[in-house]
Amino acid sequence: MFCKIVAGEIPAEIVAETPHTVAFRDINPQAPTHVLVIPRVHEPDVASLAAAAPEAAAALLSETRRIAGLEGHESYRLVFNTGAEAGQTVFHAHGHVLAGRGLTWPPG
Ligand code: AMP
Repeated sequence: MFCKIVAGEIPAEIVAETPHTVAFRDINPQAPTHVLVIPRVHEPDVASLAAAAPEAAAALLSETRRIAGLEGHESYRLVFNTGAEAGQTVFHAHGHVLAGRGLTWPPG
């Protein structure tokens, strides 16, 4: 489904785009800033992205930091739910950039 956002076939509130990535606001935000950063290439999770396309994985990581900065946050949480038991529900790699409120640890 996130491939359709990359292709512009379903709407999303796009925050930024780069040659390797698309960043858009999560439809169900869990913090004042909740942006998803996804690679343009389709890989089901960040582990397979790192194995199959390390340059895209590196670009995605640096883009998450840039997005947090654009949103005005020095501190942020970067989450990659990896696998259904870890809470992953969409199987196109994506990093959650969460910021703008106190974030507790351990996560739920
Ligand atoms: P995860 O559970 O880690 O796979 O995260 C998937 C995230 O995608 C969830 O936080 C959803 O709220 C979000 N999501 C699902 N569909 C959309 C959509 N069409 N636009 C924006 N965010 C979405």
